[in-house]
Amino acid sequence: MKMSKEKRKQIEAKTDGRCAYCGDIYRFDGEHQVDHMIPRIQGGSSKVKNLVLACRKCNNLKKGRTVEQFRYYIIGGIRKYIEQAEKHLELYNQYISDDARGLVMEELAIIDKNIDRLARSGAASFYFDDIEVSE
Ligand SMILES: [Zn+2]
Repeated sequence: MKMSKEKRKQIEAKTDGRCAYCGDIYRFDGEHQVDHMIPRIQGGSSKVKNLVLACRKCNNLKKGRTVEQFRYYIIGGIRKYIEQAEKHLELYNQYISDDARGLVMEELAIIDKNIDRLARSGAASFYFDDIEVSE
């Protein structure tokens, strides 16, 4: 995306030069990119209000998601981990002792409960959530 130096500076100032999502400062793996919080493909504008700095890692993870969709994507990743563990238990059921299965199921239930709690309390949080972002 082509933009003026002035616009880029305004965007950098919003998060003090840090990635809006993880808070990383500039590192040697490349300059921070400019991210559309609401992606263009979902109708987001290219005004400063909708733009933030994002490191490569966060930008690649977020892709065409809105910020809220990004939060749920992150939580969804933990859910997938639980689902995979459950599938594994099912698949290798005959080799796993009742005690071990019981222990794993208990642990998974705890993680599951905490994800629900986390999701209700605003899912994942990002660096910009905790700072005052000027527009
Ligand atoms: Zn980041």
